[in-house]
Amino acid sequence: MAGEPQADCLFCKIVAGAVPATVVRETGTTIAFRDINPQAPTHVLVIPKAHYPDAASLAAAEPGIAADVLAEAGRVAADEKIEELGYRIVLNTGAGAGQTVFHAHAHVLGGRGLEWPPG
Ligand code: AMP
Ligand code: ZN
Repeated sequence: MAGEPQADCLFCKIVAGAVPATVVRETGTTIAFRDINPQAPTHVLVIPKAHYPDAASLAAAEPGIAADVLAEAGRVAADEKIEELGYRIVLNTGAGAGQTVFHAHAHVLGGRGLEWPPG
């Protein structure tokens, strides 16, 4: 069923506590944890606890939870004090765009200058 945990999904395992993560924020619907391979001084992933393969499918099925993910991304930025310098919320969608984990997640990147356009 849509949104149910998937046995072969790394981020579902993090939600279940079966794989460790450095959690920085948690709500009823979301978890935020540090990326294991940080690309900036702050690199946090915000994920819905429910399993959807990407951000668009999450937003289509559960718009309220998609909004929770974005709101939490903003709270991470505030907690990390990266708002003044500016930060980026990235939703890689599809392997061609660099998505490697097919459980929706928002990257929150900041703490350094960020070039535009991204690669
Ligand atoms: P994406 O490439 O957009 O699918 O992002 C997946 C992200 O998950 C990458 O930035 C990885 O570094 C990160 N990642 C993979 N495994 C873990 C893990 N066990 N804990 C935290 N972050 C992870
Ligand atoms: Zn999952």
